Amino acid sequence: MKALSETDIRASFVNATKGEIARIPLPGLHEVLWSDREYLGWRDHGAPLRGYLVHWVDDRPVGVVLRASSVSMRPGISAMCSLCRTPQPSDQVTLFSAARAGESGRNGNSVGTYICADLACSLIIRITPPKLPMQPDPAEIVARRAQGLLDRVNNFTADVMKTA
Ligand SMILES: [Zn+2]
Repeated sequence: MKALSETDIRASFVNATKGEIARIPLPGLHEVLWSDREYLGWRDHGAPLRGYLVHWVDDRPVGVVLRASSVSMRPGISAMCSLCRTPQPSDQVTLFSAARAGESGRNGNSVGTYICADLACSLIIRITPPKLPMQPDPAEIVARRAQGLLDRVNNFTADVMKTA
């Protein structure tokens, strides 16, 4: 993805008030490897149920404030992130809800989805599978996962922004 500045990020949130946006702690951007990411995601250490996701929709940064469910899934089962589709132990996937943008969100409407608890789908999809005969090249597998992740993040934030 293209790099985001702090100004881009603050201006990107579609489902939070100005006051809430001002209080969002930003991650250390100088450490981010932008070329290896489809979206920037981080959790809020001061408010453990909060998370944030920002990505580019064409030339516009779009950010979504997420709230993690305080109820965790049953331990010991496997779960799947709906953005990167990586199957994982259930404690590494969290049900997040995002208030819808605008009046709909202020009226209590939200979109719920299961996402990697650390909001680091871009890292997990880059764990290269072993090279096997009869299987696509590992680099191609990662490229396909990245495209799938991009598409699903787009669909997710488009859904949050849908006002009807
Ligand atoms: Zn994921």
